[in-house]
Parts: sequence; structure tokens; C-alpha cells
Amino acid sequence: MLNPYWVDLHVHTALSPCGELEMGAPEIVDASRRAGIDIIAISDHNIIDNFPAVSERAEGSPVVLPGIEVQTAEDIHVLAIFRDFSLAESFQAWLWKIWAKMPPTMNDPDIFGDQVVIDKDDGIVRMEEVLLVQGAGYDVDTVVRRIRASGGLAILAHVDRPSFSYPSVLGPFPSDYPADAFELSWRLDSTEAAKWRERYAARTFIRSSDSHMLESIARKHCTKMYLEAPTFDEINLALQGHGGRRVSWPWG
Ligand SMILES: [Zn+2]
Ligand SMILES: [Zn+2]
Repeated sequence: MLNPYWVDLHVHTALSPCGELEMGAPEIVDASRRAGIDIIAISDHNIIDNFPAVSERAEGSPVVLPGIEVQTAEDIHVLAIFRDFSLAESFQAWLWKIWAKMPPTMNDPDIFGDQVVIDKDDGIVRMEEVLLVQGAGYDVDTVVRRIRASGGLAILAHVDRPSFSYPSVLGPFPSDYPADAFELSWRLDSTEAAKWRERYAARTFIRSSDSHMLESIARKHCTKMYLEAPTFDEINLALQGHGGRRVSWPWG
């Protein structure tokens, strides 16, 4: 039987330099529960290390999926969502391989803010020293291919935004672009959103909060999906419109 679930596949934590320090594990879990959101993905820039804290804290409510918001060589953001932590870790190991050869820029907390790895009670585990908002060295097509070959879902992030989006860097993507879905920003109004739907009629769009602060965790910033259960596999089927599962048009 299909039931509606509220899904937010794009939530940052205190590990993202642009994420507020208030984005701790108990705080994100509480805010998601209060907002009535059933499934979230933790998707910090280029890193997965705060997923365990939020997942352990949530104990299944909400369901927490491991994700990474990859920054490609062209400075395009792509969401990579995985079934489990070990798949996400393997993907991250591949993503960071180039930085072993070409030293990355290090974080300056005075400019970018702290990048804090936390435990489920917001205890500080360590500070990440590599600046997480920089291109990881692979082009967008390679990243998308690798995510999908690793069993993940590849979603072009905030395609309507004027920066760090595929269209802002490379222009319009082809309608058969091999991503699993495209994300529109919740800031978009329904008229503008409808243009995307018209232009890419056969494709699946989601809306996510891209939360960097607690107050933006809200149902009106995410997507309702009809699933048999709140799982990665069911979301995957819904993105494909398989077996009656579906993604509601967020501006419906
Ligand atoms: Zn982004
Ligand atoms: Zn983001």
C-alpha cells in the first residue's frame, strides 16, 4: 500500500562551512520531527562524516539517508544519495583521491567558518581541515556516472539557481541527461517552477530545503512522495514512477 511521505534530500550540518553551528544532530532531528518530515538526507559539501551522528540520534525517526553534495571541477553541485553509509564512504574515497595528489585548499575558519564533525550529542569529534566548498576535481558527467555506478542516486542540485548549478555553468542540460532527478529550489515561485516542468515534461523534479539553518527545515520546502515504505529503494522507484509510486509535483 502506498502512503505519502515528506522527503528532504538536502540538509547540511555544522560540517558544511556555510552551515550554522546550530545544525547539530539533536537539533536537526528535533526540527525534522517538529516539521513532520519523514525522510531526510544529510548532504554536506564533499563529505559524509556527520551522517552517523544524525542517523544515530534519529533512531529511524526521521529516516536518515547518507548523502554528499558534490562540487564538481566546474563548480556544479550534484546530490549523491546512497542506500547505506559504506556505499557513501566508498564514493567519498573515490571523490577525495585527486586531493591526495593535488593538495586541496585548506579551510580558514575566519573566512569560511568552522567545519565540525560531531557525535550524536553534538560532542566535537574533530575539525575538518580541508576546505569542503571547492571543486573535487572530476567533471560533472564523470561524477554523475560514478554516483550511479556506485548504487547512488544522482540529482542535479538547485538547477534554477544562478550559481553552483549545471545551467549556470554549462547552460541548459539535455532532456535525456542521465541524472535520476533534478532539484528545484524552494525559493522558486510556482509560475517559474511550471516552466521547468513544461520544458522537461518526462523528467522528475524534487524540491529540497538545502537547509543551512534550522528554521528552513519545513514541509513547504520539501517534496511529498507516495511510497510503500520510507526507504532508499522506494525513493528510487518513486523517482522512476515505478509501480504506482510517485513524486508529487512540489508546487501542486
Ligand atoms: Zn549547493
Ligand atoms: Zn546545499
